[in-house]
Amino acid sequence: MEFDLNKKYCYYFKQISDIPRGSRNEKAISDYVVEFAKTHGYEYLQDDVYNVIVYKPASAGYENSTPVILQAHMDMVCEKNKDVEHDFEKDPLDLYVDEEGWLRAKGTTLGADDGQGVAYMLAILDDQNLKHPALECAFTVMEEIGLFGAIALKKEYFKAKRYINLDAGGENQTSVTSSGGARSLIYKDLTFEDNDKPAYRIEIRGLKGGHSAGCIHLERGNAILLAARVGQELNERFKDLQISDFNGGMKFNAIPREADLSFASNGDPEELFKAAQEVFEAIYEELKYSDEGFNGRIVSIERPDKVIALKQSEEIFSMLYVMPNGLQHRSMAIEGLTVASLNAGVAYIENNRFYINDLIRSAAPYHGDIMIRQMQILCPKFNFSFEVHDRYYGWDYAKESELREILRDVLKEKGIEMEERSTHGGLECGVFKGLIPDLDIITYGPISSGAHTPEEKLDLASFDRAYVNLVTVLERCK
Ligand SMILES: [Zn+2]
Repeated sequence: MEFDLNKKYCYYFKQISDIPRGSRNEKAISDYVVEFAKTHGYEYLQDDVYNVIVYKPASAGYENSTPVILQAHMDMVCEKNKDVEHDFEKDPLDLYVDEEGWLRAKGTTLGADDGQGVAYMLAILDDQNLKHPALECAFTVMEEIGLFGAIALKKEYFKAKRYINLDAGGENQTSVTSSGGARSLIYKDLTFEDNDKPAYRIEIRGLKGGHSAGCIHLERGNAILLAARVGQELNERFKDLQISDFNGGMKFNAIPREADLSFASNGDPEELFKAAQEVFEAIYEELKYSDEGFNGRIVSIERPDKVIALKQSEEIFSMLYVMPNGLQHRSMAIEGLTVASLNAGVAYIENNRFYINDLIRSAAPYHGDIMIRQMQILCPKFNFSFEVHDRYYGWDYAKESELREILRDVLKEKGIEMEERSTHGGLECGVFKGLIPDLDIITYGPISSGAHTPEEKLDLASFDRAYVNLVTVLERCK
């Protein structure tokens, strides 16, 4: 298999591989697409975050057909092997074809995620012999760091009611649902007091963690909530626990594996240790089939000068003890799919404030709305504030989809049974669905693997076949 630059999608893949395009560094690639639109005489729009929409008119006979959005993200994840000299701000990717006929980049990510989709769109825009309805080709930015480009799009940019996302890939597959997300900030202003009580630290370790989309249904322990639970249960008994520090977790979208809770108490040390041990044992018993590596311990620490006021400490324990977390709903249409969840991902104290970063995910907006409302009701009860940032909608599973049936037929004619894929993770599809609620959606693309790593590769034979399938689908969008 050779990387044949006479094929337009290969040619454009090479072109865009010469332009550095890590997330937040998309101006050059965005301007390239704008130049392309100008030289081809297309109407286009470039917004202030550098998303570009290029509009290609309907071909003859398709003037009355509903337009179709094609979409891919221009940014790529920049990862390289340690021994490779590569400046992702300046250097072009060093493409080569391996023995199995896969396209790769020497020592770096290939950016097939989502260069494959960008190349397909440019090839389609550059081919006047194709038959299709009016196309609205959306080239988005900052997908890899939180779908921020798609979130900045406005519905006025589009007339289409059909949308093909070219990011998920898979040649024989299409996605049928994705989750929305809302980053929420739960916080409380703190009053610190002088301390003369002995102090201790609860340490939670050994948990599996995992991505909050793919692992939230596995009943794994949340280190932050487990630490708070120990605090709550000790305080019910000793009634004088005052927090001096509390931190755990690293990311909104990862289940926290470790947490440290430091507090002061005049409780009898031996009793305190014994009581903590009892809670650890109860937790271990609960997690023995899901997170058996759980390891909790309590240690004496140096007496801190300052601790959080007693009432506020109690409110932190109680809030974290009762707040909803983890899997909330699963799909009754798709087996094994989580459709609503919360993840208390990070806890920390900064500038006299205690913060929890929580990621709320839902495929359908109503589940998201309810979880947000629950937090809005709950937080003030314990004198917490609650804010939602960067909310984007999900793509709830739709039983009927005309586009999906067209793709299914195109694949079936080649003897392929189309696979349907579902995720509790976020895709740009959900953002588009939020923008245009009656949008019919599929995802499509060639086979690639190793995304986000230097092992990333694109199956060139599949790159050929998936392109043919894609333009066939467009041709049938009468
Ligand atoms: Zn992608």
